Amino acid sequence: MDWHDTIAAIATAVAPGLGSVAIVRMSGPAAESIGRTLFRAPGQQVWDSHRVLYGHVVDPASGERVDEALLLLMKAPRSFTREDVVELHCHGGLIAVQRVQALVLAHGCRRAAAGEFSQRAFLNGRLDLTRAEAIGDLIAARSQRAAQLAMAGLDGGLQRRITALREQLLDQLAELEARVDFEENLPPLDAAAVVAALTAVRQALEALVAEARQGELLRDGLRVAIVGRPNVGKSSLLNRLSRRERAIVTDTPGTTRDLLESELVLEGVPLTLLDTAGIRPTSDAVERLGIARSRAALAAADAVLLLFDLTTGWSDDDQELRDLVPDGAVLLLVGNKADGAGLATGAVAPTGPGFPLEVAISARTGEGCDVLVEMLLQRCGATELQGLQVALNGRQRELAAAAAAALGRSLEAAAAELPWDFWTIDLRAAVRSLGEITGEEVSEAVLDRVFARFCIGK
Ligand code: GDP
Repeated sequence: MDWHDTIAAIATAVAPGLGSVAIVRMSGPAAESIGRTLFRAPGQQVWDSHRVLYGHVVDPASGERVDEALLLLMKAPRSFTREDVVELHCHGGLIAVQRVQALVLAHGCRRAAAGEFSQRAFLNGRLDLTRAEAIGDLIAARSQRAAQLAMAGLDGGLQRRITALREQLLDQLAELEARVDFEENLPPLDAAAVVAALTAVRQALEALVAEARQGELLRDGLRVAIVGRPNVGKSSLLNRLSRRERAIVTDTPGTTRDLLESELVLEGVPLTLLDTAGIRPTSDAVERLGIARSRAALAAADAVLLLFDLTTGWSDDDQELRDLVPDGAVLLLVGNKADGAGLATGAVAPTGPGFPLEVAISARTGEGCDVLVEMLLQRCGATELQGLQVALNGRQRELAAAAAAALGRSLEAAAAELPWDFWTIDLRAAVRSLGEITGEEVSEAVLDRVFARFCIGK
């Protein structure tokens, strides 16, 4: 990648009839001169950094006014990328913004790759890698808690934690390496202190790795399948859950066949409900229970709500569906229509294999649904999210785990009283892994992979 060229992209979402304002962003050495070529600011307006100009984007070839716009120039290094940045705030929708983009591309900009603005910000030292990744997380956030966690990352919470741990390791490494080279000139090493320091860092890393699972739940959400015989109340439960919080619910045809996916947020956790509702009794033996669709839902799910009808009780058909649930899946057996059966709602103590009920609800009245949600989140390990300060993403978690494992090997070498250089091999590996998290030691290939996950224009 040549990062001395000037890149451009539409930084806002592009949709017909939507978005009253759209932003075309340029970054690089030619940004200002391209802006001056294409933008006419009437009157005595002064081109200056961090000052907004009003005017028109004009096609210099024809003199045609393409859009009425505002221009914002941010001179290096006081910009997101630390390069000269020009933003054209033009009209939203589809056409005007794309014509403005086409003009800047025709006058010397290259179309930015996904995440390329953020990548330049990183390469120019404006952001460390954890902050850059947090930007991606913030944009992708589907719940308030996920957004808060991303903001903590953007504020450098994770970077500071990792850097502090890495520095502790570097201190110990310096002590050890000095001994490798100049042992006779130095006071004897306090091996117990080194071991204590490495152990403390290792524990801190292991705690971060354990917490990462919680962060993942907030970021990626849970996929929950609702399965059950026709008419047990799957659609009613779905509607009930969707109404429970003023959640944004979107129904999209599922990616897996015939599944309906609904997105909602429960207790801060984004949930994708995979719904086999709509399966109706047929004479076709295979389709009777919607086995194929249930299988698809089960295969895609982190957790399963198996619904049955309390007014008719547990049946062979219910058992047949129960047997489809893979071993080890998080499964909750939910009896619905407690109102019709004259039963109390809420968690139920197991009453034996004949009647495997765990929670009784009424999708019609909503009773028992709070308990159901609580049990579901608890089974999925999603209940300790409130205290979470920072959370590693998948890439960072792997590196932290690798660092912890390397420290474990260092500590083994220490316990076996091997020579210093046996301690330092793995210690150096741990330092490198932590450096990869923050981006201090990272290869271009890794960077490309990280930033490719971003959207265009970011
Ligand atoms: P699905 O085929 O599993 O999606 O079932 P539906 O949600 O369409 O519900 C089937 C029927 O059961 C409808 O007539 C619902 O009104 C009724 N139903 C659903 N939940 C309850 C409930 O909690 N109590 C009672 N009494 N009826 C319910």
